[in-house]
Amino acid sequence: MKLPDLKTARVRNQQIVKYYEADILRNENLFKGKKYFLKTYGCQMNVHDSELIKNLVEGLGFIEVDKMEGSDLVILNTCAIRENAHDKVFGFLGRCKHEKEINKNMIVCLCGCMAQEPSVCEEILSKHKYIDLVFGTHNIHELPNMLLNKMSKTDIEVESKEGDVIEGLSYTRDSKIEAWVNIMYGCDKFCTYCIVPYTRGKQRSRKSSYILDEVLKLKNDGYKEVTLLGQNVNAYGKDIEDELSFSELLRKVSQTGIERIRFVTSHPWDFEDSLIEVIAECDNIMPYIHLPLQSGSSRILKLMGRRYTKEEYIALFNKIKSRIPSASLTTDIIVGFPGETEEDFLETLEVVNACKYDSAFTFIFSPRVGTPAEKLPDDVPLKVKEERLHRLNEVINKYSLEANERYIGKTVKVLINGISEKGNNKVCGYTETMKLVNVEGSKDLIGQIVDVEITEAKSFSLNGVAK
Ligand code: SF4
Repeated sequence: MKLPDLKTARVRNQQIVKYYEADILRNENLFKGKKYFLKTYGCQMNVHDSELIKNLVEGLGFIEVDKMEGSDLVILNTCAIRENAHDKVFGFLGRCKHEKEINKNMIVCLCGCMAQEPSVCEEILSKHKYIDLVFGTHNIHELPNMLLNKMSKTDIEVESKEGDVIEGLSYTRDSKIEAWVNIMYGCDKFCTYCIVPYTRGKQRSRKSSYILDEVLKLKNDGYKEVTLLGQNVNAYGKDIEDELSFSELLRKVSQTGIERIRFVTSHPWDFEDSLIEVIAECDNIMPYIHLPLQSGSSRILKLMGRRYTKEEYIALFNKIKSRIPSASLTTDIIVGFPGETEEDFLETLEVVNACKYDSAFTFIFSPRVGTPAEKLPDDVPLKVKEERLHRLNEVINKYSLEANERYIGKTVKVLINGISEKGNNKVCGYTETMKLVNVEGSKDLIGQIVDVEITEAKSFSLNGVAK
């Protein structure tokens, strides 16, 4: 392969570094026709990071394929939040190892949060030598350089500065209707069970001017919905002097005129009254709020480092509901945190019964290496954790179904975003309150916001007919 000339050396930390300019790499189409396979684990942040990875590797000439076997480049964008995410990744890596014995030139990359866990890196370096590239969430934009480094065996240093917020990146977005927009990276909350502050680093907000430009461009490109993304979006701006607060940012995003605005994820501690007001006042900010509870016991919340009590959480929930009665609220709950007694768990059920969530993501606690909670005795037996999870899910599912049944006979606005998995002549999309609806109607409706009459409710979805 003929490589472009290296850009002249520049100095960083007193070191001479050599690099290829991203634009030159794009124009050279160096890997034209080569095949890449990308697998994404975890949250929306990872899904959106994968949209950036796609844009970078397709810019080099790679073409996406849906099978790892036979591809030239395999990228696993990983998640570190849950133990089973680790297991899945290492399971898939086993297949990659086998494939690489046949296809020796295949490049295997591991990136994302797992790649930023020191213990995982050590394991990879010692036991998984067939993995060619390991990089974290801070230096995805350096992927073209890293690939060239690997392919050419040239010693090019890549930059990785956690404090940077890189602007001007392009994404190959999965949808032409709904788009993710990062508004911040990292998190400063340091909940004791969570690996994110260690893998994604301290909170770094993007400047609001860049966010607003991106939303405006998406609107002009025909996008109907944006979701503002961050680990703790309502702390937006607190790390930059003279920056907008999250509620001020939301209002400005609303003024762009884009039809639908969502945001994830909120922390109850940062949920200010001004945020409730802006959601209530702006019609294009969707009345859907994900408000992680994690535990209903104030004692366990303290051990988790969550900075609110059971009573404060319920008061916030009620304040939101009374100002925005149409809002749907969902949550995250962990069962079996170290030291959780039956009484603590019953307090969690008490909060669920008080809040009657529209739905919830529920998890069994498993310690993440390097977090403070890892050092606490994991003393709730697995059987007890499983039994609590089962009891919790039964209550959550009951309220989900009740919430969905209230939609029967109503006409709601649904943004149709694709063909339904429920069979022919059906499309699907989401209500303003984030309910999945399977709609009888033709695929010409995709991309439109349509009035749908709800005819049937299930625990996890609704059925309806386009009017
Ligand atoms: S606020 Fe969320 S991302 Fe931040 S440390 Fe807590 S659980 Fe993790």
